[in-house]
Amino acid sequence: MPHDTQAPINLFDVRAQQALIRPEIDRRIAAVLDSGRFVMGPEVEELERGLAAFAGVGHCVGVSSGTDALQIAMMAENIGRGDAVFLPAFTYTATAEVPLVLGATPVFVDVDPHTFNIDIADLRRRVALVKAEGKLRPRAVVGVDLFGLPADWEAIEAICAEEGMFALDDAAQAFGGALRGKRLGAWGGAAALSFYPTKTLGCYGDGGALLTDDAGKAELYRSLRTHGEGKTRYEVMRTGMNGRLDTIQAAILLCKLPLMEGELAARARVAGWYDARLAGRVQTPARPEGAESAFGLYSILLDDENQRARVQEACKARGVPTAIYYPLSLHHQPAYRAAHAAAIGQAPPLPVSEALCKRILALPMHPYLDEAQAARVSEAVLAGL
Ligand SMILES: *Cc1c(COP(=O)(O)O)cnc(C)c1O
Repeated sequence: MPHDTQAPINLFDVRAQQALIRPEIDRRIAAVLDSGRFVMGPEVEELERGLAAFAGVGHCVGVSSGTDALQIAMMAENIGRGDAVFLPAFTYTATAEVPLVLGATPVFVDVDPHTFNIDIADLRRRVALVKAEGKLRPRAVVGVDLFGLPADWEAIEAICAEEGMFALDDAAQAFGGALRGKRLGAWGGAAALSFYPTKTLGCYGDGGALLTDDAGKAELYRSLRTHGEGKTRYEVMRTGMNGRLDTIQAAILLCKLPLMEGELAARARVAGWYDARLAGRVQTPARPEGAESAFGLYSILLDDENQRARVQEACKARGVPTAIYYPLSLHHQPAYRAAHAAAIGQAPPLPVSEALCKRILALPMHPYLDEAQAARVSEAVLAGL
């Protein structure tokens, strides 16, 4: 088979895009080098305006990473010791790490077997258990839009309103996704974005942002990202951090933002090519009514661990990279086991998160895959079933 003569397929692709905009990137980086304004240069504000407009929200605050975006949002809510932060057990480690860094307790919630996002019935059950035990105060829900698919924000917002909790959207994998015609960023009290290179909008290093419609919160986020500063640089109003987005990363993102709409459409097209070839043979990503995924990843679900291993082997043999997001549910991570055990006395099991870890498999997903490549990937998957 002539696979080795064909263009290589990458899981993500940061080169094809760069080739399109390299002169513009070189020009904008050179402008920053000339200006010497490496921290909080004018590009940061220009980017914040562009991101807010793209998401259709009032305010954007550029920060140093997606993790720091989550931390700043939780610091603004004064989340700390004795507070319960509800989040899915099936997500990236950063979502759980932040409440622990602040002294709060993550309460792991199971996920929906089709959307892989936080299970609303299980969320309600665990909030009730925490309230009944009376050890922790329910303070926030971090909804994660896993693999780019918006979580059930209408339900999360309703629960948070009923219980007096803050709804924080971890949209690190999902910038560009939308729910009921409203882009992510406009859901919940605030949304955290990551510009890690492989995210839907990525820079060439670390970066992130917070989006919110609340002007007061945006002010607070600006203060917290710069050591809690007040009206002047040397007035310290609160304990903050160094959480700034650097100017060169902002300049790079400004070159990439104009490509975003086209790239989202391209990702959706790739997902459609996969769907057409794989649906019915494996579980393909859910398409809940009213939700538009940003397709940060395209993950299929196999029958079991053995079938997944066979598919990975078949893909590898055909030069098709795959990856497992995530091999271990967060409540089983060595670092988080104790927190999980302490959160709820008799915590219900998390069977869906555990099963997904054994069955999930991510296929190559980026805007520069063509239909022939999607077909090759699909054939490799089917060959391994
Ligand atoms: C990538 C990611 C983060 C962290 O973003 P960084 O920019 O790497 O700090 C947080 N949550 C989720 C779900 C992510 O995928």
